[in-house]
Amino acid sequence: MPVTSGTLPVLGIVVPCYNEEEVLPETVVRLSRVLDSLVGDKLVAPGSFMLFVDDGSRDKTWELIERYRRSNPRVAGLKLARNAGHQNALLAGLNRAIRTVDCAISIDADLQDDPEAMREFIVKFHEGYDIVYGVRQSRATDTAFKRGTAQTFYKMMRKLGANIEYNHADYRLMSRRALEQLDRFKEVNVFLRGIVPMIGFKSTKVYFDRHERFAGESKYPLKKMLSFAWDGITSLSVTPIRLVTLAGFVLFVVSVLAGLYAIVQKLAGNTVSGWASLMLSIWFVGGIQLISLGLIGEYIGKIYKEVKHRPLYIVETNLTAQSETGTGTA
Ligand code: UDP
Ligand code: MG
Repeated sequence: MPVTSGTLPVLGIVVPCYNEEEVLPETVVRLSRVLDSLVGDKLVAPGSFMLFVDDGSRDKTWELIERYRRSNPRVAGLKLARNAGHQNALLAGLNRAIRTVDCAISIDADLQDDPEAMREFIVKFHEGYDIVYGVRQSRATDTAFKRGTAQTFYKMMRKLGANIEYNHADYRLMSRRALEQLDRFKEVNVFLRGIVPMIGFKSTKVYFDRHERFAGESKYPLKKMLSFAWDGITSLSVTPIRLVTLAGFVLFVVSVLAGLYAIVQKLAGNTVSGWASLMLSIWFVGGIQLISLGLIGEYIGKIYKEVKHRPLYIVETNLTAQSETGTGTA
């Protein structure tokens, strides 16, 4: 049941947090300021709130969330039983928020995405947009390495046929009905950036400047970043498997040509000396076959994970905000 006060929409700001004790105090202050001013300017309902999702942090993140919830009526908390990963934590928050909100904005805890842009998100929501993508205008504060890898990633995803928004991470607004549709995508390998555009509905972009992480370290070291990119590609596209087939065809044509060449040489009375070419082709084709097997295995592994239908996250504690209406503490 949608909960609305008058005609103003209830906004839920969903913030996944993993070991964010260093940034959280500042994040709460900054988000509160934005939320209070949105409420003050009658852009969102007074029942709007911030939902901090503790993704199985090992530091004091949850204690902080509990403390802020007591002192700030607009703070809600959701504690996951163990680390489920950024995407799943976000999904957990959105699925929890859907109970009471008219729209939800997801944002990282580290204040890299400018919270002030939310005002424009909400204006767009009032104009009738269901999905508003926050797009980074400049990545000047990211390291050249992060910029480069991100660029390559977006380009590759596009080439592989996945329609993802350029320079958009997970800073976005979704209307209630978009959230309801999102909930129908029951995949284990969630890659929200790729899934959200599949929902459709009226969508638009809002540009903002990306800042440096306020404090603490990126929770996406290179290894996690690579596995995130690989997951994104293999859960949104089967083009890699097609490329394998294509490589098979190309090798086949090459081998036919090589065979013809050998026959012609033989007829001309020349012996084709062959050890090096023989060894090379065996190793080459063998390598390609192993890569192909691995790639196909990757997809089968994904299918295996999907068919088990395991829960994506386990909720341990759910604390509603004091400002929130219509729900109880579960
Ligand atoms: N995060 C999470 N679970 C994880 C890893 C990260 O909830 O397993 C959160 C993290 O607290 C932050 C957001 O996801 O709010 C994005 O992470 P981070 O800023 O470290 O990534 P980056 O901006 O470096 O890509
Ligand atoms: Mg970050």
